[in-house]
Amino acid sequence: MTKAELDTYRETLLALRTRLSGNVSHLAEEALRARGGEASGSLSNAPLHMADLGTDNFEQEFALGLLQNQEQALTEIGEALERIRKGTFGRCEECEGVIPKARLQALPYTRHCVACARKLQRSS
Ligand SMILES: [Zn+2]
Repeated sequence: MTKAELDTYRETLLALRTRLSGNVSHLAEEALRARGGEASGSLSNAPLHMADLGTDNFEQEFALGLLQNQEQALTEIGEALERIRKGTFGRCEECEGVIPKARLQALPYTRHCVACARKLQRSS
């Protein structure tokens, strides 16, 4: 996985986390930082950035609906960000296989590939 791809997932995760925790001023900050810390990032730009973040939320809302609650979602997102830092992001924790990009795009905080997720769901 390239650094640019990782940056995209990190940005998505940060936006999701901020939206879930409902901290709007924080959201503006994260959005600005995620875009490479534009020097002209005054707070007056914030509403525009927030609107940008709102465009592709449908899939994420759907994916988040699969989680039990907001607290669990925040935990998963935090751990996904930690995996990005450690360089293990995108690997299945069960079989260590590569998680397909389409799955990561829909569920950036997932820790399992499709096959393992199904297997674990059945056994729980
Ligand atoms: Zn797996």
